[in-house]
Amino acid sequence: MKSSMSDIEKTVTEEEKKETVSRNFIEQIIDKDLAEGVCDTVHTRFPPEPNGYLHIGHAKSILLNYGLAKQYGGKFNMRFDDTNPTKEKEEFVESIKEDIAWLGADWEDRLFFASDYFGEMYEAAVKLIRKGKAYVSDLSADEIREYRGSLTEPGREDPGSSRSMEENLRLFEEMKEGKYADGEKVLRAKIDMASPNINMRDPVIYRVAHMTHHNTGDKWCIYPMYDFAHPIEDAIEGITHSICTLEFEDHRPLYDWVVRELEYPHPPKQIEFAKLYLTNVVTGKRYIKKLVEEGIVDGWDDPRLVSIAALRRRGFTPESIKLFVDLCGISKSNSSVDYAMLEYCIREDLKLKRPRMMAVLDPVKLVIDNYPEGEEMLEIPNNLENESLGSRMVPFGRELYIERDDFMEEPPKKYFRMFPGNEVRLMNAYFVKCTGCVKDKQGNVTEIHCTYDPDSRGGNSPDGRKVKGTIHWVPAHEAVKVETRLYENIIDEEKGVYNEDGSLNLNPNSLTVMRESLVEPALADAKPYESFQFVRNGFFCADSRDSREGAPVFNRIVSLKSSFVLPK
Ligand code: ATP
Ligand code: MG
Repeated sequence: MKSSMSDIEKTVTEEEKKETVSRNFIEQIIDKDLAEGVCDTVHTRFPPEPNGYLHIGHAKSILLNYGLAKQYGGKFNMRFDDTNPTKEKEEFVESIKEDIAWLGADWEDRLFFASDYFGEMYEAAVKLIRKGKAYVSDLSADEIREYRGSLTEPGREDPGSSRSMEENLRLFEEMKEGKYADGEKVLRAKIDMASPNINMRDPVIYRVAHMTHHNTGDKWCIYPMYDFAHPIEDAIEGITHSICTLEFEDHRPLYDWVVRELEYPHPPKQIEFAKLYLTNVVTGKRYIKKLVEEGIVDGWDDPRLVSIAALRRRGFTPESIKLFVDLCGISKSNSSVDYAMLEYCIREDLKLKRPRMMAVLDPVKLVIDNYPEGEEMLEIPNNLENESLGSRMVPFGRELYIERDDFMEEPPKKYFRMFPGNEVRLMNAYFVKCTGCVKDKQGNVTEIHCTYDPDSRGGNSPDGRKVKGTIHWVPAHEAVKVETRLYENIIDEEKGVYNEDGSLNLNPNSLTVMRESLVEPALADAKPYESFQFVRNGFFCADSRDSREGAPVFNRIVSLKSSFVLPK
């Protein structure tokens, strides 16, 4: 087919159109700012508070901020927003750095701590006082709340608001010098007690807190409030686009007020997007914290959680999380994403990259009565869809193990696996025909018997006859006993984190431990974080905490099947 020049031009412009349309709203804002000269570069940051481990929601924010900086050839800062010494801990600083590095967001040498700017923040507060835009208040926290009014009622003036600039300077300095107890005095911005936006009704910007800070020690006994500190941090670092989540939308006028009143030459711009929520799991830091503190999970990295450390330990990869975040997109309205989409992403990432091995989670012995003495080695491809992964040799003999539920003495209709009289394929090995089983006194099957067809080596039909079932196996003598762990979600945030009596609404089946699983010999050397497909059973990852040399513990990352369909 021939296409004329104008046809080609038309396609190009249509492509271009699609490009602009598919840009998310944040990219559109940035494009506009660059075009209009509001800024000439893009500089973003990720500003966690070191008060817990990061979770999948944070991963979205990290990858968004880092991704924008990369995309526009700009810079990305890693900044700890450590202005509240009450809840912050050094442990969290380290875990957060580890998680972000693992995700691949490289801050290079751009690691900052908001607490390093306490001096500038203090000066900024003094500047506001000098401009008559801040005053020291003697009201208690309760009184401040009471004076603030409500959505329908304007606030009342704080008696402190009529203080002279000189008095405010003196009192603020005395606050800094430790003359006042916690809560005795605060510094408030003087904005508008009648503002329809309650955040603008003379917000507190500094408080007294006699507390040791993890970074600055006892140097300070006054600490800035988040809404005052954050814009200053952004401005000092030259951030152009300060991306945060939707709950800060109503705080934006205050953000703008702070950067305007402090007369920063290049004021940063706050942009809000919707938080990522996942169905069937808990994402809130405080809920995760509760599970950890009550010992319900075995730490912040328990594989049932969706903290980044937990996802890593479970066997998720940075690529799978990136794919997930990309599929979620960026939006202005809150909604939940199906947890199955995250599972889809890890399957997509691993299916061609990882070898497909045989592991029997709940074994029962299979004896091939007509198999001769001795063993043979079978060459088995590691991944039929990816030849570059090569192959391995697996011993095969008279005695094997198969999954207990791959045999039924009296099968229902449409059961195509092993039952007396039925022929199935042992994966990559031979056709076998079941002849019966042996049971113990309680009636449990202890051994299954079969005969094999020597002409079906490799699992190929010798004469065109078909079998409906293919089951996996491990050789009885060489198989390695390992622990495998299967998971379900621990708490479903949507169904309610708490029961009516205030207890946590836990899923009793969130963890199943199988201590008698058997894997083929090659898996004995699995290293922590190494992952595999166990044919028919799912993707598994060697646990980084509980695996021992030669005795790995395998966490199921995800099963193989899903009814999930990728949304358009
Ligand atoms: P949580 O609500 O889970 O306690 P947080 O917002 O208090 O989290 P911060 O350490 O203050 O945690 O957050 C650091 C950054 O991550 C902020 O910019 C915040 O907006 C962003 N963030 C937090 N949770 C999510 C989420 N679920 N989706 C997207 N971004 C998030
Ligand atoms: Mg927070």
